[in-house]
Amino acid sequence: MILNLNAYEIKIENNLIDNLAEEIKKVYSNDRIFIVTDKNLIRLYESKLRTTLKDFKIDFVIVEPGEHSKSLHTYEVVSRYLIQNGMRRNHLLVAFGGGVIGDLAGFVAGTLYRGVPFIQIPTSLLAMVDSSIGGKTGIDVKEGKNLLGVFKNPKAVYIDPMLLNTLPEVEYRNGMAEVIKAAIINDKALFEYLKKHDRLTIKELIAAIEVKRKIVLEDPFEENIRMYLNFGHTFGHAIEKHFDYSIKHGFAISYGMILSLEEGVRLGYTPKWLYEEVKAMLFKHQLIKEPLYKKDEFIHLISTDKKQLADGLRFVFAKDIGQLEIVKGVKF
Ligand code: ADP
Ligand code: ZN
Repeated sequence: MILNLNAYEIKIENNLIDNLAEEIKKVYSNDRIFIVTDKNLIRLYESKLRTTLKDFKIDFVIVEPGEHSKSLHTYEVVSRYLIQNGMRRNHLLVAFGGGVIGDLAGFVAGTLYRGVPFIQIPTSLLAMVDSSIGGKTGIDVKEGKNLLGVFKNPKAVYIDPMLLNTLPEVEYRNGMAEVIKAAIINDKALFEYLKKHDRLTIKELIAAIEVKRKIVLEDPFEENIRMYLNFGHTFGHAIEKHFDYSIKHGFAISYGMILSLEEGVRLGYTPKWLYEEVKAMLFKHQLIKEPLYKKDEFIHLISTDKKQLADGLRFVFAKDIGQLEIVKGVKF
């Protein structure tokens, strides 16, 4: 399956990794490739990548797994490694990994020599359905997550669902939170599927990606409807901050979606049944457990969200599956 996003393709296919060289040759004509990845992935996939990319001269840039690698320090280490090891501005940078690798390598690709060709190969469910789609890159600073970044379109995004076979269960569930969010935003059939199943087939994976792709296509720079993708994230980010980022993003936004729906019910945007159905789904997918959090613990962390617009908070309420509303200046 090939989906078009502006000038580039998102290709989703089982065992795509086995034909990676052919795919890359369609969008890149040099013979040198620099691959940014993490220690877990290199252990699992180094020999596979070396075999499938044997036509190229490849260099691996390996970072520690985990959010800590989205730092100015790692950004500098990776960039200087590439400069010192002969990367030129027409050489290709590939991100092979989860959201951390995609965001970090994307930021390097967007800034090194003012931009080098870039390919995303997301390996986690979260990266496949969310962070690799839409051109956002970024690293964290003490003041907050993703505060430094650029929009950087890749030459292509290659998604091989077989890579999910090695993904730890908890990371799969983490990604499912963004799939559930995508279903709420714009896919009733996907929402119904998720009531009954806890694993995705390639069909539902594509459906979730499609929700994000359509939104990004219409609003690439988050001027209006791309904000729908922030559903559950205002509280979600506050919850992450509250726990000093020891809670995984997908779990935090799951509690965040619950709080958004609760507020929606209270303020008259959200019907009670929607709150109940989403809550049941998040329990089923083991993304939330009792006791649920109360909004009061997090309110003070919302107002300090540095990425907010100057004219105040825009909050996304869900009115139905496939129907959201962005409300300006909400007071909690
Ligand atoms: P996310 O994708 O959730 O934003 P990370 O990039 O930190 O976050 O990836 C989550 C964890 O899963 C990391 O420890 C990473 O090494 C690991 N991981 C990612 N993809 C795979 C995979 N296909 N197989 C095994 N482990 C993976
Ligand atoms: Zn998210």
